[in-house]
Amino acid sequence: MPEQDKQQASLQPASAGTSRPGGAARNSLDLANTLRRRVNQESHLQTAAQAYAAAHPEVKPDGSSHAADSLPQPRPFSYQQPQPADLWVKCPACKGVMYREDFLTHHSVCLHCGHHFRISARERLDMVLDPDSFEACDASLESVNPLNFKGYEDKLKLLQSQTGLQEAVVTGRGLIDGRPCCIGALDSRFMMGSMGSAVGEKITRLFERAVEQRLPVLLFTVSGGARMQEGLLSLMQMAKTSAAVARHQAEGLLYIAFLTDPTTGGVTASFASLGNYLISEPGTIIGFAGRRVIEGTIAEALPEDFQRAEFQLAHGFLDLLVRRSESRQLLSRLLAYHSQDTLYPSCSLQQKPAPAPPGLPQTPDLREHRGSECLDLIHLKDRPNFNDYLQLIFTDIIELHGDRCYGDDPALWGGLARLDGRAVTLLGTVKGHNLAENNRCHFGMPHPEGYRKARRLMQEACRCGRPVVCLIDTPGAYCGVGAEERGQGEAIARCLETLATLATPVAAVILGEGGSGGALALAMGDRLAMLSNAIYSVISPRGYASLLWKDPGREREAADTARITAFDARKMGICDQIIAEPEGGAGRDPAAVAQGIRAFLNQSLADLLALPSDRILEQRQARFRALGAYRES
Ligand SMILES: [Zn+2]
Repeated sequence: MPEQDKQQASLQPASAGTSRPGGAARNSLDLANTLRRRVNQESHLQTAAQAYAAAHPEVKPDGSSHAADSLPQPRPFSYQQPQPADLWVKCPACKGVMYREDFLTHHSVCLHCGHHFRISARERLDMVLDPDSFEACDASLESVNPLNFKGYEDKLKLLQSQTGLQEAVVTGRGLIDGRPCCIGALDSRFMMGSMGSAVGEKITRLFERAVEQRLPVLLFTVSGGARMQEGLLSLMQMAKTSAAVARHQAEGLLYIAFLTDPTTGGVTASFASLGNYLISEPGTIIGFAGRRVIEGTIAEALPEDFQRAEFQLAHGFLDLLVRRSESRQLLSRLLAYHSQDTLYPSCSLQQKPAPAPPGLPQTPDLREHRGSECLDLIHLKDRPNFNDYLQLIFTDIIELHGDRCYGDDPALWGGLARLDGRAVTLLGTVKGHNLAENNRCHFGMPHPEGYRKARRLMQEACRCGRPVVCLIDTPGAYCGVGAEERGQGEAIARCLETLATLATPVAAVILGEGGSGGALALAMGDRLAMLSNAIYSVISPRGYASLLWKDPGREREAADTARITAFDARKMGICDQIIAEPEGGAGRDPAAVAQGIRAFLNQSLADLLALPSDRILEQRQARFRALGAYRES
């Protein structure tokens, strides 16, 4: 793809030009070369980041009359905080100057370029909690000097008097839009938020208290990592806090980790990375090893965005980025998604209940198309895609990114949404309406990262008791060297394995193409519907023709032979219901088709949620156990 070529071309000279081989770095040249090769191979991740930026204009600098419409220019890594007494504040990123009052009104975000300044723990808590709702816990807990490190006690005393904090973390309990949570925030002013015994103990107690009170935990991290002055005991806090998170997770409770600038070292490698949701702000540094350590090791200058939140998002390690001014609202919505009162709301909570399905579309009323006719109709430019149905069917949509392993796949959408008020985990394959959109989402063909993201979100849904809804429109899983290197087959197989044992309702709809294992990875649910012109096949008709007849030109003939229509799938017991499309295809009346999908999903989930989860699993296992045609004598 030309776009990717261009990115590769621009990346290569940059890395070559800054190469400084020599000295101790010689041993690291292989590592450097590997890294460079990986950067080139990862061009689809760059595309992912661009796609994200295009789809999320809200992740641009904070809005104001002055705000530029682009992300900040290269930002400094160590920057000054504004002088408290000054009337003016100068931004270290863009050098812009603003009134302190305006700056504070904008939550300490630059009005010119959107640079997010560091703020204190109490400012964080005040920004997201309901006024006067915070109750501190363990406020008197403080560090001792286990190694008798010279000057440590004096440093602690000085920081205590300067910051008014006993230690580098503030913990307690508070309300967000009336919903209680256990909450904590680290403070960069106190030894760069480093984790010694006192910080580890306070965070551990926060999770233990949350288990006792069955509350979610919200934790704002900012840390240089373990606290050197406390030696091995500070390292052990990583184990202690991770164990506390694990106990909280085992109870099915929610933990939101909000990573702020900078979150590094032992904190990134323990509780900060273990949230159900990992959220950050634009520009935040998140990493394990420090940038300078890595540059020294590989003897190369690293790109400006290295270890930034945007980099972590593109590499699959963050669920989403949010502007500071919108963080309270986002956190409130996430808490609501995990609160019993809105998980299965009564009708009174619904804005507009879906009408009871008045006789779901009946198969006999539909004209049965031949495979080749379906092929023509699903390739029409005006055919609604996942994004169209997303807006027509669901509300309160929160997209979640990343496989927590390698990347974020724009071909597979994952997130939370409400179907007539009911919280669901929504997964869908994304196609575009034109070439540019299709290039961004790889023509709806997911990479292994997409399937791994889907699997992660399926498991998360099950843990939280949410049903899963999958909307499928894919020619199949992405074919390519990188996809094979990263285990495309394994990634699909793990989705199937997960669905086979996922104790929560799963309903799926094939909107257009249901291509091969890449579609089945999302379609192995309790109920499957197909739009009346959709197809579901073991291989694309073109692939079928070239494999069996060595002539891809006989695609239409293959489509008519291979029994791929919704009617075929229904006769085989693979599809439960056919959702009617108007004559001429779904593009003629997207709203009516969306209504059909919505009715199918509502009915399916209502039926399934009436069953105990072991019964749902039993039925799903039996459903797929029964499929096949064979003879035995
Ligand atoms: Zn600025």
